[in-house]
Amino acid sequence: MEAVLVTGGAGFIGSHFVKRLLRSDDIAKVTVLDALTYAGHIENLGEAFLDPRLTFVRGNILDTALVESLAAAHTVIVHFAAESHVDRSLLAGGPFVQTNVLGTQVLADAAARHGVRRFVHVSTDEVYGPLAEGSATEDFPLLPSVPYAASKAASDLVALSYFRTYGLPVCVTRSSNNYGPAQYPEKIIPLFVTRLVRGEKVTLHGGGQHVRNWLHVEDNCQGIELVMRSGVPGEVYNIGGGTDLTNQELTGMLLRVCGADWDAVTYIPDRQANDIRYSMVWSKIADTLGYQPTHDLAEGIARTADWYRRHPERWAPLVRSPLPAMPSPRVTLDTGREPQHV
Ligand code: NAD
Repeated sequence: MEAVLVTGGAGFIGSHFVKRLLRSDDIAKVTVLDALTYAGHIENLGEAFLDPRLTFVRGNILDTALVESLAAAHTVIVHFAAESHVDRSLLAGGPFVQTNVLGTQVLADAAARHGVRRFVHVSTDEVYGPLAEGSATEDFPLLPSVPYAASKAASDLVALSYFRTYGLPVCVTRSSNNYGPAQYPEKIIPLFVTRLVRGEKVTLHGGGQHVRNWLHVEDNCQGIELVMRSGVPGEVYNIGGGTDLTNQELTGMLLRVCGADWDAVTYIPDRQANDIRYSMVWSKIADTLGYQPTHDLAEGIARTADWYRRHPERWAPLVRSPLPAMPSPRVTLDTGREPQHV
């Protein structure tokens, strides 16, 4: 029976993962540690609170005393907590380095001291950087472009160093872009859907030719759970198998499911360092752990859009919020450009 500490469990992917874990009888307890930043919402855990095995702790992964006490009380840590929005990282990289890099070190340090049996560090395909062609295997060089991706690459290396140095049983997962219900409406799918259902326009960067692989959040959580249970310590697992789409193709799907047409789309200049394409090989987790994504993209997108239509109370209060005040940006954004997506 495992006692699992889930950091960032009030965020998008973390909250889906917590609900999935609680469906298993061999999980003795689940503790969510989440600072409830702008991206964290306790409502994301919803019905999970009916389960007496769930405890919620509002706190920061940078709080060493708190992390220490929690690590001592758990056998497994699954680490989702992060600053996760690329466009925010273009405005200010500091919080990304603090939470993503230093926060991972604080957690890994406490986990190693208390003999945690498994530490799953949740990461992204963006650490490999843009690939004009081909696909990245897990041993591909890390060539991140933007501060978000660089902070995740650094955190992957910090986590793995705790395996090599102290024997902490670390596994790293790197997934492609996730979609599904309850994603904060700053990422492209919820941003576009929440605008289109209100009859507003959406903006596409740089001709919409950037390619992303879209993976249902439940498929990613399936992979993360497999790694949590059976991953080999010290190993990295790519979690892919979604559908490759240009942003233009994705927009076409979103227009269709929201009953809008191309008049709703405005094209704007590309943002800085917007990686043209990500692509990963995910045969390792499929062949060794039996991972197999099951969600069809068209159906998943339709269901996701439907969730936003049925739950305006979950996003309407958020969509008018400006980005939080940032220290002087080191980069200049084009006038009128809006923060957009992953
Ligand atoms: P999210 O922004 O929805 O959630 C992040 C959560 O972390 C929030 O609940 C937030 O309150 C919490 N948090 C942030 N800073 C914290 C801190 N200092 N201490 C404690 N809690 C803190 O992010 P997400 O989309 O659910 O992503 C989860 C993880 O998966 C991240 O590590 C991200 O890099 C990774 N990832 C995301 C995607 C994607 O498509 N969303 C793809 C690949 C990997």
